[in-house]
Amino acid sequence: MTDMTSSARPILNRRLAEFGTTIFAEMSALAVKTGAINLGQGFPDTDGPEEIREAAVRALREGRGNQYPPGPGIPELRTAIAAHQLRRYGLSYDPDTEVLVTAGATEAIAAALLALLEPGDEVIAFEPYYDSYAASIAMAGGIRVPVTLRPQSEQGASFRLDLDELRAAVTDRTRLLLINTPHNPTGTVLTRAELTAIAELAVERDLLVVTDEVYEHLVFDDTEHLPLASFPGMRERTVTIGSAGKTFSFTGWKVGWVTGTQKLVTAVRTVKQFLTYVSAGPFQYAVAEALRLPDVYFDTFRADHRRKRDLLGDGLRAAGFEVYQPQGTYFITTDITPLGEKDALAFCRTLPERCGVVAIPNSVFYDDPDAGRSQVRFAFCKKDDVLHEAADRLQRLAA
Ligand code: PMP
Ligand code: GLN
Repeated sequence: MTDMTSSARPILNRRLAEFGTTIFAEMSALAVKTGAINLGQGFPDTDGPEEIREAAVRALREGRGNQYPPGPGIPELRTAIAAHQLRRYGLSYDPDTEVLVTAGATEAIAAALLALLEPGDEVIAFEPYYDSYAASIAMAGGIRVPVTLRPQSEQGASFRLDLDELRAAVTDRTRLLLINTPHNPTGTVLTRAELTAIAELAVERDLLVVTDEVYEHLVFDDTEHLPLASFPGMRERTVTIGSAGKTFSFTGWKVGWVTGTQKLVTAVRTVKQFLTYVSAGPFQYAVAEALRLPDVYFDTFRADHRRKRDLLGDGLRAAGFEVYQPQGTYFITTDITPLGEKDALAFCRTLPERCGVVAIPNSVFYDDPDAGRSQVRFAFCKKDDVLHEAADRLQRLAA
């Protein structure tokens, strides 16, 4: 038998050749190895509500969901997702035909792109982009066309979208806009005016839209999360993605969802059924309960994270970082240039040794790594004392 590993043809297909180990796995492994505080990969260090954990235990014990749940997700969860979209945003979806439960938002993104793209179709996505976007576009044979979010000139301002650049990026080959608001890693929340312009562009150029809104409940100050599907002409062309991992602090459960018209959801489901068929049953029962939590849960969740953002932001400023103020998500993007540093990847690889903190280099989220060369992302979904300790350690860097 030929030794395939020595043949001239690479084992990994060429669509995925550029994708090695994700930065999140690399940096979390570094945190484990060094014992450093992990402000890299975005996961909370406190689990979500006790009663929701208990709901999962109960489902498991009562034998609900221990065997394959229905392909589109259990009806209780689909109904709860539809009720959530209606209650929060006035968006009405039929739980039977317009809602699909996925194995996290990650599978929703992959299934949507695999469903909606032909090889060679162009997909416009904001840069810096969440890493699975590039990989999922590649798996579908699509071509990614980044539109770069840029920090506003004044110190401390946030990243914004240039609408002219977005318009200019659309060609006759553009099939789809892949939107993310609130945006990981920059924390940008698209405004009503920006979303209106995006919607007008999508309608004018007849584009499909996949919108990743997993941080929908993490918006701060007087910022509001507005779902793109609620804008004129968008319902019929938009696949919206949510995740219990983010909203309820159970990232390990991998329960996400898609809402959209029957046509769109059927297409996504066609792919999803051959990726995982279903995601974990008992957790679906628990997430159905979580989505029905009273407003006070969501308000407290948001207020806690706002406090944590300010706590870590102040610490990072005191440590000499340039801080770009996030309006949403649980991430802060910084610039390390004021520290006399230039290269985010090198900085993040040595940071645990130098001061016992792990962060993520945003440079890996750009097609043009120079654009984000000196940007580093910190997650603040951690206990207050952990954030204080991390800030103290980072302040020793400059000293
Ligand atoms: N989209 C964005 C913007 C994210 O930050 C993440 C992850 N953390 C995901 C999708 C994936 O979510 P999930 O863990 O539900 O797969
Ligand atoms: N979305 C999380 C983050 O941005 C990571 C999830 C993952 O590791 N795939 O940190």
